[in-house]
Amino acid sequence: MISNLDFMQTEKLNFLAFIIPLFLLLMVMEYGYSLKKQKRYYTFDESISNLNVGIVERMCDMFSVSLFYFFFVWIYQNFALFQIEANIWTWLLLFLFTDFLWYWYHRYSHEINLLWAAHVVHHQSEDYNFTVAARITIFQAVFRSLFWAFIPLLGFPPFMMTVILLVHGVYPFFSHTQTIGHLGILEKILVTPSHHRVHHSSNEIYLDKNYGDILIIWDKLFGTFIEEKKEEPCVYGLTKPIQRYTFLWQHFHYLFEIGVSFQRARGFKNKMRTIFGRPDDIQPEIRAELEERLFSGTKQQVHPKVLSRYILFQSILTMLLLFFFLLFGNYLHIGQLTVGGVFILSSVICIGGLLEHERWVFPLEMTRLFLLLLFVAVSFPSAMFMGAILAVGLLQLCAYRILQSRYTSLLHLQRS
Ligand SMILES: [Zn+2]
Repeated sequence: MISNLDFMQTEKLNFLAFIIPLFLLLMVMEYGYSLKKQKRYYTFDESISNLNVGIVERMCDMFSVSLFYFFFVWIYQNFALFQIEANIWTWLLLFLFTDFLWYWYHRYSHEINLLWAAHVVHHQSEDYNFTVAARITIFQAVFRSLFWAFIPLLGFPPFMMTVILLVHGVYPFFSHTQTIGHLGILEKILVTPSHHRVHHSSNEIYLDKNYGDILIIWDKLFGTFIEEKKEEPCVYGLTKPIQRYTFLWQHFHYLFEIGVSFQRARGFKNKMRTIFGRPDDIQPEIRAELEERLFSGTKQQVHPKVLSRYILFQSILTMLLLFFFLLFGNYLHIGQLTVGGVFILSSVICIGGLLEHERWVFPLEMTRLFLLLLFVAVSFPSAMFMGAILAVGLLQLCAYRILQSRYTSLLHLQRS
């Protein structure tokens, strides 16, 4: 957490957590609008999956933001080339510089396999709505921080950097929507929803275009700009759509693909190309091969009603939990943070498994229950709670089969 930002904290509460309900409200409004206009902007599985990815990223941010912050302060204090003072011109310069850095960070994320392995997750959604904006991973944040490191290196003070990175964090949310059409003169200067729709499309003519974050000028300058065309409606997602909602597969499939390509490539140069070359160099068939080997059956399309309701309920619960976890994070000790973090992560993996009707979901549910009790026990350490956890753990083991068949029949899980 950014403990130095006194103006954002009363006591130890982290008010940045309120960005979650705010963005969720905007998603609900967009969903309502799409229903009213009878547009299919939202599909259930894709929306849940997008939010799942975002939940984990927000949670990881809790732990990583201060690390990144100290990394930037360390660079500023030890290697800053200039001492830049805050005034209107340096703020303007910082804005242009960070937007320029973003352009190259984003472009390289599409052109270099290792970076694409992190960024691909953001592009997996076949829907295009505000939930896609939440579909960001912590790995992306790590790569992006390497680009952001140029800001303190140049000599911009950390407080200026923090403010401008907040702007870069919030602006892209609003470009992930189909509800906003052409914005007239603004289309010439800013990255608008129209420009970014193009970026998320897998249509041949739209590929590798419009990398900008706030200003579209960099794309125009470096030859990657294209306007959204009426005669070419956007088709969202990857050129070869991912066939799974399994959380870990969504995050790591491309690393596996790189691994297989690396293994098959002959000679040092070709092997290096699988890591630092372009995504076009990785054979698209490898993913299908891996999916066939690792998963049984095909992507589930239809859920029993009770299962959909349960998935929605669990997702809302996890988001609520994340909100309180972030808001009160500074009051929690390391034990609570660890158990709470693992609980949120396992909830998200569980929801992904439920979307796939996977049979490994049940043991994970048991683990979640156990983690919940463990959270109570580390919060109020006492022999009584420890004893209760042990008792529940034993009970779970003894009644495992009965509980499992009850769970699967209640949720109408087809695969078990
Ligand atoms: Zn992208």
